[in-house]
Amino acid sequence: MEKIEREIEQLRKELETYQRAYYVDSRPLVDDSVYDRKFDRLLELERRYPGFASPTSPTVRVGSDISGDFPEVEHTIAVLSLDKAYTEEELLSWIGKLEKNAPDGLGIIIEEKIDGVSIVLYYENGVLRRAVTRGNGVVGNDVSANVKTIPTIPLTLPEAVTVAVRGEIHLPKAEFETLNRTLETPYANPRNLASGTLRRIKSSEVARIPLRIFAYEGFWNTDQPTTHLEVLAKLKAYGFTINEHFAYFTKNAIDAGDALEAAGLKAVSGSWEEIGPFIREQTERRAALAYEIDGLVAKVDSIAYRETLGYTGHHPRWALAYKFESPQAVTTLLGIDVQVGRTGRVTPVARVRPARVAGSTIGNITLHNQEYINGLELGIGDLVEISRRGDVIPAVERVIEKAEENTGVWRMPSRCPSCDTPLEERGAHTFCPNGRNCPAQILGRIEFFVSKEGMDIENFGPSTVKDLVDLGALGDIQDIYSIDYEEILSDRPGYGPKKIALIKEGVEESKNRPFRQVLMALGIPELGKKGADLLIASGLDSIDKLLAVAEREDVETLLSIDRIGEKIARLYIDALNDRDMRTRIEALRSAGLSMEEKIETSTVKQIFAGQTWCITGTFERFKPRDLALREVEKRGGKTTGGVTRSTTVLLAGPGAGSKLAKARELGIRIIDEAEFLQMLGE
Ligand code: NAD
Repeated sequence: MEKIEREIEQLRKELETYQRAYYVDSRPLVDDSVYDRKFDRLLELERRYPGFASPTSPTVRVGSDISGDFPEVEHTIAVLSLDKAYTEEELLSWIGKLEKNAPDGLGIIIEEKIDGVSIVLYYENGVLRRAVTRGNGVVGNDVSANVKTIPTIPLTLPEAVTVAVRGEIHLPKAEFETLNRTLETPYANPRNLASGTLRRIKSSEVARIPLRIFAYEGFWNTDQPTTHLEVLAKLKAYGFTINEHFAYFTKNAIDAGDALEAAGLKAVSGSWEEIGPFIREQTERRAALAYEIDGLVAKVDSIAYRETLGYTGHHPRWALAYKFESPQAVTTLLGIDVQVGRTGRVTPVARVRPARVAGSTIGNITLHNQEYINGLELGIGDLVEISRRGDVIPAVERVIEKAEENTGVWRMPSRCPSCDTPLEERGAHTFCPNGRNCPAQILGRIEFFVSKEGMDIENFGPSTVKDLVDLGALGDIQDIYSIDYEEILSDRPGYGPKKIALIKEGVEESKNRPFRQVLMALGIPELGKKGADLLIASGLDSIDKLLAVAEREDVETLLSIDRIGEKIARLYIDALNDRDMRTRIEALRSAGLSMEEKIETSTVKQIFAGQTWCITGTFERFKPRDLALREVEKRGGKTTGGVTRSTTVLLAGPGAGSKLAKARELGIRIIDEAEFLQMLGE
């Protein structure tokens, strides 16, 4: 307990120091992701140990930006922060809960979360009286003189109203780049420069910085509009810049469109189902914006419902920030595991203290090979920076701090962790040469064979593979077709007659897979879809032709195929000449698997000839959805992975994302599964 208390104290102190540097000095000491991680850790500890709660904790108060350089004034409205979510699921579940209790239907606005400085503009009888920083939510600094230099802020309004307008002062990225170059101590990002500027003592200096504002909330003394859409429309009519990149969602899309039209606003509208795709698109579009955003903000539209929902001391309950995460994080390397793949290749995998990066938690990261580890000078216990390259693949970027007890650079073991055979170096990689008996390789090979990239055997997942291997029934891929599943599995817990029947059905059905799929499933190194297509298109369209090439060591024939080089030709030949591979192939042939590509002699009409098709979303009949593309190809159509100007048709199912938006933008024909089936004559 004492330890927990100490950690809580420490986190509170650290966060307060970081807040001061960020809000008051505009020179943050740490990256936002480091701050957010500590903040979330403190939140979690306070939730788990409510006895240590404190009314002054940074988690229950708004991070204060008050400095002694400007007069302090009291806010007449609550100027709070926002509650945060990091995933689409959290956001959707929040909306779901709100909808249940909404008195008459729910409307949700999703706006961009501008990464700037929060400001409240107080107008009295239509005249700007005061501009106040967020402060601690109750009291802020009066920075009116500086704010009045921003040309897009109206000094008077067309109506003599008393209203508090909240907005975000920011600096566009291009202006930031130009300006920052001239500064002696450059700022890390536009937010910090904007924040630093607002806190300058001399307003004449502020006037030289092209700050902008987006206004996003209004609190009128009388005649408060009843919805957020009306608030935005009114702010716009007053001459404020509002950010029109927002979207409006209701249960059904038509209501959303109508509400926007009634408010005289133009924006994206849709039903709840379209929130996910919208968020994904916004995330992609983020980099192309002229200004920085660090997330999105979802808000309840009805002002009356907002009042019912109310506030905590830290945030309103009617809004939620969906934060884009920094694509980096700092964590500790706990260990390096060594994995043996189906081809015998040994891969070191880093185990790190789980950390959130770009929307998900990362615990394992591949380190490729020894050379890669040497390049990073990586040792167990080191503090490392991790990322998601291209927002997808986790990577260790660099060592930030060596472990206290420096263990030196990690070294690959000399023996296979699965079968203890001495490992071999082949080029940059390390291999276990015991392909026949190494348990890890056997398991990997079978798992690959049944997987989607292989034979795609339904109801035959990794746990079934493992159970059968452990029972000694499955020693290699060909055994899949000779096992008596009833006899082996019927007394096993978790394998009822229904499940066993499904497994058998999946195995039986897999015998109909075309030769190119069987070829891929054999697990020959570098022989994936592209490789199989190339071989078959060149006329090597049966296993016997391929085996003959291998037997003759006929590298030349393979090299004559465009895009097959020396290295790959060698890999194919060696794999096909391997004794165990031959045994597997013959056994699979006897089991009835297809060993030659059947030329489509059918009379399928080439109705899609000259067309280019693309696919997005999910489908009922076509699982995996690539099966739909095969139908297109069979009928003469070309298929591609992305929508471009030359795409003729986009086949779209539920859950479609950015491809759908792009197709709409380009005016490309979009059809759904039902229409597609009709075209196929089904
Ligand atoms: P927040 O990021 O939690 O969000 C609240 C703010 O979002 C509002 O005050 C408002 O100014 C702004 N906002 C932008 N667009 C908006 C819109 N359309 N609608 C409503 N509000 C909008 O803000 P916070 O409480 O100021 O700060 C917490 C965040 O600040 C942290 O998550 C962290 O990223 C950063 N921070 C970093 C450090 C650091 O040391 N690096 C220190 C303190 C805070």
